[in-house]
Amino acid sequence: MIAFAPPCIDQKEISTVVRVLKSGWLTMGHVTHDFEDRFARYVGAKHAVAVNSCTSGLFLSLIVSGIKPGDEVITSPFTFAATANVVHQLGAKPVFVDIDRETFNLDPRKVATKITSRTKAIIPVHYGGQPCDLCAIDHLAKDYKLLVIEDAAHALGASYEGQKIGSRNNLTCFSFYVTKPLTTGEGGMITTSDEKLAMRLRTLRLHGISHDAWKRYDGTGHWYYELREAGFKMNTTDLNAAIGLAQLPKLDGFTARRERLFKAYNEAFADVEGVITPTVRPNVQSSYHLYPLLLKKKKRAAVIHALQQKGIATSVHFIPLHLQPFYQQAYGYRKGDFPEAEWVYEREISLPIYPQLDKKSLRHIIDSVKELVA
Ligand SMILES: *Cc1c(COP(=O)(O)O)cnc(C)c1O
Repeated sequence: MIAFAPPCIDQKEISTVVRVLKSGWLTMGHVTHDFEDRFARYVGAKHAVAVNSCTSGLFLSLIVSGIKPGDEVITSPFTFAATANVVHQLGAKPVFVDIDRETFNLDPRKVATKITSRTKAIIPVHYGGQPCDLCAIDHLAKDYKLLVIEDAAHALGASYEGQKIGSRNNLTCFSFYVTKPLTTGEGGMITTSDEKLAMRLRTLRLHGISHDAWKRYDGTGHWYYELREAGFKMNTTDLNAAIGLAQLPKLDGFTARRERLFKAYNEAFADVEGVITPTVRPNVQSSYHLYPLLLKKKKRAAVIHALQQKGIATSVHFIPLHLQPFYQQAYGYRKGDFPEAEWVYEREISLPIYPQLDKKSLRHIIDSVKELVA
């Protein structure tokens, strides 16, 4: 069986984790701080705050952005549930805006029509690791005084006009879930250039306990702390961070390998009548997290089943959130609301794309898809 997205783990990750296990300190400590420092340096961010998932990162980012009940937050319906769930959990309304057919990202031209006096933030989702049109989104944010929180769950290693995702002047959230460009088993990271926001994020991720108090009362030892607000339990652990530390130096190699696979697929399917291959815009560098192929004839379920029979696991990204029972019941969204997202969803199939996918497997996938869509 060719798996869809297995983690790329070798002896390096194993020995780094074993070292932490033997150290006597398992939860968040200096290994996590080291991972944060290296991650910040990698993406070119001033601050990186490690959390237990990208979902937690988005949730805390909304809180430090001051999102309150009754506010509206604009995002794409073509994303994983977490992006909109966190907005709902804060009592705010996720306002979906349709995507464009070329990048499957939020269409900035459609955003302006959905902005109201209650709109507070935009969460652009970099679908498949291809950065959104951040220049257009920044213009909207400036014109309407909105905050931007990037959902970069797919986009570690990607850049927009030469600037790494995560290095910009807002909040950006990354995922280290097993299928993502870099994994720590479970985990996430928030990057920002704002020191005050970074400090509040660090406090909120661990119960609301202030670290400054430790410094002020240094003479009395490490037992003293002050609770500044009711926080959450969303920290990561040194065990998870150790995996990330071992993965980070390999990341550019992983991305380069996925880029080669992406291009090999595109070349192989270029002349195939029944498919539409994905494109990458010239002003961005993608992380090539997904290979989303569109099937023209809409027999997607049969193709997925037949590929499974041939030992090839695939996936679909995403079932648009406005088609989910919860978002229909809670906010009255309906089929037909976002025709572009529906158009892509009905045709999309994600093929395996990961560093350790070998030539023989790639050949088998390409030949099988060609045979099935012919
Ligand atoms: C995976 C994913 C998330 C959530 O990441 P977790 O680390 O699992 O919380 C959020 N948004 C998108 C687009 C994702 O693909």
